[in-house]
Amino acid sequence: MHSLSLIGALLLCVFLFGLVRPSLAQTPPKPRTADDPRTAIELYFRAHALGKAEFIERAFTPDAKIKFVDASESKEWTRDEFAKRFEKPAQDEYRRVRRVERLDVTGTAASAVLTLDYPQVQFTDHISLLKIGGQWKIVGKIFSAEHRNIGQEALKTTEERSLPFEPRKIVGNIYYVGANLISSFLIVTPAGNILLDTGPSQMLPQVAANIEKLGFKLQDVKVLLNSHAHDDHCGGFAEVKRRTGATLIASKLDGDLMMRGGKGDFYWGDDATYEPVTPDRIVSDGERVEIGGVSLTTHLTPGHTKGCTSWSMSVHEDGKDYNVLFLCGLTVSPYKLTNNDKYPNIVEDERSTLQRLGGIHADVQGRAAESGRSKSLCGSRRTRPARLRDETRL
Ligand SMILES: [Zn+2]
Repeated sequence: MHSLSLIGALLLCVFLFGLVRPSLAQTPPKPRTADDPRTAIELYFRAHALGKAEFIERAFTPDAKIKFVDASESKEWTRDEFAKRFEKPAQDEYRRVRRVERLDVTGTAASAVLTLDYPQVQFTDHISLLKIGGQWKIVGKIFSAEHRNIGQEALKTTEERSLPFEPRKIVGNIYYVGANLISSFLIVTPAGNILLDTGPSQMLPQVAANIEKLGFKLQDVKVLLNSHAHDDHCGGFAEVKRRTGATLIASKLDGDLMMRGGKGDFYWGDDATYEPVTPDRIVSDGERVEIGGVSLTTHLTPGHTKGCTSWSMSVHEDGKDYNVLFLCGLTVSPYKLTNNDKYPNIVEDERSTLQRLGGIHADVQGRAAESGRSKSLCGSRRTRPARLRDETRL
């Protein structure tokens, strides 16, 4: 299991960084010309983002029809009736994401499927476009709406991601003590142990039991580290600090979020809170955390959170040295990547994070979380293959 895990981790590194590097080399896409149907779709998206009817008038033909079903009955709006609904940006615009799922173009005709991914509802638009007088215009739209509550969805998926998982040694003095899809790592040293993430508070008994199963004690945790300040990774910190007196070490920005108990997160707002906790030490990029012969290097890898922190260390086992990287998280879906007032430099942060991670050699990689099948606190709606999930967990 151990060597397979290492191979899996190595494959993942190749997969992950192999994907990342070519994309970094690409030049930014050229601005779209009137020849591209996406020009009309962008105007339509802008109408939503800015709450401005004028963009609907520019995106749609005057005789365009918007059709949908409400309470089993067919309803229809004219373009101008539809445009009247655009008066100002939505209050939760920073949590609203829009994307083009499919676009088929043949000559002067095109059709597209769009997703408008909002916290309370997800719209699926099917639009028809024509290139009229050299300009692409939307000539009609039908849509479907699916109501939901992502706060509840996230809670449910956190439960699903906290299912028990057999604790195990990974390599050297590093052990996995987390759940099926939310990680927690124990690093054992003669001067006391390091715990990297606890999962949410309800997962803590499981983490404590996993530590005991491996022959260690929660009370011996002297240093508490964090990947990032989301509930599903640090929700148990306040309790662990009470029970162990461990020194909590975090980055400045995620430390601030922790002190607010998750309130005011740039995406979740106040929807995913936990017991506030104050770090005892703030670390910056490149700073080392040392205890009992173990030296962990801090790598600030913002994007998933503003202070997302990856950690690296080396271990020795069976005559070999291994570089181990604990990856904070790279997921930026479902975040809003453009015009995001709550996190204006999110794209630059994520890009530099990917670039920096590409320069770190890792023989073994542990990840804070993996994507769930539905919208989870730290994962995306689009899941990776289960094969990778197993490998990343080691
Ligand atoms: Zn997260």
